[in-house]
Amino acid sequence: MILVALWDLGPAAREALGAAGRLGDEIAVALLGDPASAEEAGAYGATQAFVFDGDFAGSGGEAAIAALTELARELGARAVLLPRDDRTAEIAPRLAERLGGTAVTQVVAIELTDGRPVWTRSAYGGKALVEVTAAAEPVVATLTRGAFAPAEATGGTATVSTRSAPAVDGAVELLEREAPSTGASLEDAKVIVSGGAGLGAAEAFRELEELAGLLGGAVGASLAAVDAGWAPADRQVGLTGKVVSPDVYFAIGISGASQHLAGIGGAKAVVAVNTDADAPIFASARLGVVMDCHTFIRSMIEQLRSAT
Ligand SMILES: Cc1cc2nc3c(=O)[nH]c(=O)nc-3n(C[C@H](O)[C@H](O)[C@H](O)COP(=O)(O)OP(=O)(O)OC[C@H]3O[C@@H](n4cnc5c(N)ncnc54)[C@H](O)[C@@H]3O)c2cc1C
Repeated sequence: MILVALWDLGPAAREALGAAGRLGDEIAVALLGDPASAEEAGAYGATQAFVFDGDFAGSGGEAAIAALTELARELGARAVLLPRDDRTAEIAPRLAERLGGTAVTQVVAIELTDGRPVWTRSAYGGKALVEVTAAAEPVVATLTRGAFAPAEATGGTATVSTRSAPAVDGAVELLEREAPSTGASLEDAKVIVSGGAGLGAAEAFRELEELAGLLGGAVGASLAAVDAGWAPADRQVGLTGKVVSPDVYFAIGISGASQHLAGIGGAKAVVAVNTDADAPIFASARLGVVMDCHTFIRSMIEQLRSAT
């Protein structure tokens, strides 16, 4: 049995179900969020769907880990697959430890060799690929967005059952809740306009938002821009931020540190804008513009406004 842990049945979830299909085993889904998705899971290859009723947000991942530990043991799961995001990066290694298995993060491919899964994961900030076979099962794997073809709708059905989230009182004290930033999702965006330290001030990010809106895209940021308080943390792209795969990625006032590049390897084309012609970002760019970023952003906005 392969257990796929999901919050909803959006694009990331369908990719995870596509990846699960590569393992040639029965698929069960644990839904820790939107219960409305449960019935639909059957159409994408799951035979069982378990809907967990309760609050998974306030326990630092403990409630999700407890629920998945119990279910994976009960099902005798060989693998637990999770779409890679901030939440699952936090819970996957802890879940693997609880299950006595192996965590394999940032998985980009899965092949079966003699019936045994070989997991390919990216390493060294995306500069290398490593093939891994697990010493101990179950494998708890986080899947890189865009790496797996989404499961096709087959019209199948899953048996749906509801469970209560286990109580994990006192495991973590919730000090503050921060609402996620608004705007288009970075993971699904076809165009991303990202700003870095070169933007110089928070106000420049408002212009970036306008430019992204005109291009029908999403705003991203480097760690330096997030650290400066100009952009929310959930907009950070890179090794410790989001891994993105847009058609076009604008890197504006971003130097191109390896940790930033680790997040944009999946972009089909990078357009870099930088005043320093020797900035490393140009080595990764399809199109390079040596220009002041404010001049570039304003000129793009003007031209796009006059074109609409
Ligand atoms: C463990 C670890 C994890 C990390 N994870 C991440 C991560 O996930 N994401 C990430 O982004 N970074 C990450 N970093 C930080 C990373 O190493 C860099 O420090 C960061 O990416 C630099 O951000 P930046 O390019 O915006 O800033 P800088 O490196 O300061 O570059 C600013 C650029 O703007 C240009 N510039 C200046 N003025 C202008 C102007 N007016 N117009 C146009 N260009 C201008 C400059 O020439 C320069 O190239 C991580 C670091 C570590 C150690």
